[in-house]
Amino acid sequence: MVKNVNNVYSSIREIKRYALEENVPIMQDETMDFITDYIVKKNVRKILEVGTAIGYSAIMMALSSPLVNIVSIEKDKDRYMKAVKNIKKLGLEKRITLIFNDALDINLKDKYDLIIIDAAKSKNRDFFLQFENNLEINGAIITDNLNFHGFVKKDVSEISSRNIRGLVKKIKAYIDFLENNVKYKTKFYEIGDGISVTERRL
Ligand code: SAH
Ligand code: MG
Repeated sequence: MVKNVNNVYSSIREIKRYALEENVPIMQDETMDFITDYIVKKNVRKILEVGTAIGYSAIMMALSSPLVNIVSIEKDKDRYMKAVKNIKKLGLEKRITLIFNDALDINLKDKYDLIIIDAAKSKNRDFFLQFENNLEINGAIITDNLNFHGFVKKDVSEISSRNIRGLVKKIKAYIDFLENNVKYKTKFYEIGDGISVTERRL
């Protein structure tokens, strides 16, 4: 449990500072607020996160409610190790389980109330398909970075980088996939870098 509130704040500030310095793309404050509100409002207990990075969003989600347990997957060794340290520092290792692996190579058995997709933008659809069977009936899948720093709103011909153009096409295809998916209904929000909330049509 949390021992000292001042320690919590300073640890989080330090994680954020590190992310900024090392170019780790952690969630924006607005996105984090939306997700933690969602967790409280919907009484979310079990969360699966694809893309731990250094543990920032997992820590923020765990701090939003003592009832929350999180499994988070990261494929980058250095980031995974940093996340392990950060989570330990905050004493949250009992409630946050980290998996060091490519998410597309794991099959999980458990069901989750909330699945966060915040990993490789080009693979959102793959992650969605990989884990949709792990979603509780009343659960939701939240995907981050659907605006991709405003690129997704631009006409593809205006984007000079071939790489970015390719990514934008993939994000647009994912948005289409969500919009046209008969099993789910999705809401899109202009929050942070753009997020979607996908729930089952019951
Ligand atoms: N959710 C974090 C930020 C994640 S950044 C936060 O807000 O604090 C995205 C992370 O996803 C990167 O660290 C990257 O290494 C990881 N990632 C990308 N593709 C992945 C995959 N296939 N499996 C697991 N992790 C992946
Ligand atoms: Mg993100």
